[in-house]
This record gives sequence, structure tokens and C-alpha cells, in this order.
Amino acid sequence: STDPRGELIGGLIVDVPDFPKPGVVFKDITPLLASPEGFQATVDALVESAPEGVDVVVGMEARGFIFAAPVALALGAGFVPVRKPGKLPGETLSHSFELEYGSETLTIHRNAITPGARVLVVDDVLATGGTIGATAELLKAMGAELVHVSVVMELSFLHGRERLAGLGIDKCTALV
Ligand code: AMP
Repeated sequence: STDPRGELIGGLIVDVPDFPKPGVVFKDITPLLASPEGFQATVDALVESAPEGVDVVVGMEARGFIFAAPVALALGAGFVPVRKPGKLPGETLSHSFELEYGSETLTIHRNAITPGARVLVVDDVLATGGTIGATAELLKAMGAELVHVSVVMELSFLHGRERLAGLGIDKCTALV
């Protein structure tokens, strides 16, 4: 990380071994959220990572919402949620992707974003890149322009950044 706030932010994210299953080290952001200085520094750094002229900030269920919404307000942009199936009441677009075990589907309201709109995607953790990749596919189907991805923490050993690069997404900021 090159952001000077990275040390504060990283120090408030706690490693929980073997959660939610053996072999996974879960990155618990709840201590970060509980710290007013830490949460504020995180939102500030995410806001500063955004390029000019963002129209919409997209956040993914559920922890992405926590960061994406305040970033949207600070940028004067709209907030649009990406959700699990069966949660959005309007007409939706869906994209499914493979996980280590089984698959996952993400949805978005079909008319939530105007074609050509400049979109910033915000999430808590970039792991394999499956979630952000699926979100990128939804945005592409809507004709929106994904201009930047910003995450609080990147698990670089899972090579999510390379997966996103394979989808043409090379603008990605990780605070930690
Ligand atoms: P991925 O699709 O593999 O990039 O996983 C990213 C999503 O899963 C993010 O929305 C994270 O909230 C969650 N996630 C994946 N791995 C972890 C982890 N080790 N600790 C906390 N959250 C994780």
C-alpha cells in the first residue's frame, strides 16, 4: 500500500483463522467500522482514489454497501446496489460465476444506470476477483463505463487483480 492511512486501516482489520471454514483467513472489518477515525480515514482514502467525474458508485452486498454508500455521498454520485438473487423488486440483470465450491449469482436493477454513465465499484475485500468480475459483466451489459475499482483490502496471493486485468479492468486501488 502507498496510502499513508494504510497502516491505521490495516491495523484495524483483524485476521480470523478458519472462518467461515477451515483454511480460510477471514478479514474482519468490524473493528475498522467501530473506529470513527479508522472508518473516516477509509472513506476519505476511497474517495481520493476515485477519478474525476464519477456518476454512480456501485457496492456489492453486503459489506460493500457499508463503504460504497458514504463514498457516493462524498463524490456527489448516486449509489446503486448489486445484490444476491431475490432481493431487488424491479426488473433485474443477473450474472453467475463459479466459486471454489458451487456458484454465485449477482443481480442489479436493469434500469438503475444510464448507458455511458461513469461507474466506480467499491468493495471491502478483493479476493479472487469473482465478485468484482461479475459486477463488471453486469455493468457491461447495461452499457455503463466501469472507470475504477476501489477496495479496502486486497488478498494479492489470490491474484484477483490479474483476473480483473483479463476482463480489461486495470484501474484498481487497494488501501491495504
Ligand atoms: P472474491 O469474489 O473472491 O474476490 O471475494 C470477494 C468477496 O468475498 C468480497 O465481497 C469479500 O467481502 C468476500 N471475501 C472473500 N474472501 C474474504 C476474506 N478472506 N475475508 C473477508 N471477506 C472475504
